[in-house]
Amino acid sequence: MTATLPGTLYVVATPIGNLEDLSPRALRLLGEVELVAAEDTRHTRKLFNHFGITTRLLSLHEHNEAQRAEQLIEKLQGGMSLALVSDAGTPCISDPGYRLVAACRAAGVEVASVPGPTAFTTALSIAGMPSDRFTFCGFLPAKKSARLRELETFTGRRETLIFYESPHRLVAALADMSTVFGDACQTAVARELTKLHEEVVRGTLAEVQAEFSGRDKVRGEIVILLVPPDEAVPTESLDTLLLKRLEEHGGPPKQVVKEVARELGLSGSEVYQRYLSLKK
Ligand code: SAM
Repeated sequence: MTATLPGTLYVVATPIGNLEDLSPRALRLLGEVELVAAEDTRHTRKLFNHFGITTRLLSLHEHNEAQRAEQLIEKLQGGMSLALVSDAGTPCISDPGYRLVAACRAAGVEVASVPGPTAFTTALSIAGMPSDRFTFCGFLPAKKSARLRELETFTGRRETLIFYESPHRLVAALADMSTVFGDACQTAVARELTKLHEEVVRGTLAEVQAEFSGRDKVRGEIVILLVPPDEAVPTESLDTLLLKRLEEHGGPPKQVVKEVARELGLSGSEVYQRYLSLKK
């Protein structure tokens, strides 16, 4: 166990749903520091009440972060120990905090990590999507045109893409992903992670979209994971689509290969190789 050091900013991760995920070290530090900067003090007060923590709270959100950073650095330089938390998960991950941390580093103030839950790594750990390489893309814009433009910046990527999304925009976001990446790419929606109704819905983008469009109302917190077609359309969906198109067309295989390649965003030669193996 390390002592709580004076003049240090501790960046502390808090649970994303299940209170048992607060680490013993986080619990100890939140009780030991002199002041905790929190995204929403009312929200963090509930967490503190649950754990019997009585440390003073001060708000630090996107609208006051720059000004708060100055005040907090003064306190840190005066020898105070401080913690930074957000409403849930890891501060600075789609949450306030980065400016304070940057200002501390620029001022030579010690910054220490107290890691814990983050929704996107939690989703990746249970979604069963390729996880050796991925890009965390944060929240997409709320407006359709901006969302489509943003999604287009990710075409041609060769790794799993991870997005945060609000439940009421989920179906629209999936539809836009279909427009940009094609219906066939592998997708997972991880909902309510670590909570009672945790679920992961997996399938092609078309299947996942159909599942959520068919629900009355989508609720809860959501992470979307998507494998862009270039890299990892599994042979299964390629085979299924090829066979389907060959049956429908009855035309020259070259034409079908070309169309399927375009639809899945794969190279013609890759699809042709699959066609040859299927023929065998
Ligand atoms: N700082 C947080 C982290 O470390 O993941 C993220 C904060 S961001 C404002 C909130 C978004 O994270 C939600 O809209 C959702 O997309 C995702 N999220 C947070 N908790 C989640 C959960 N329990 N299940 C699924 N997604 C979650």
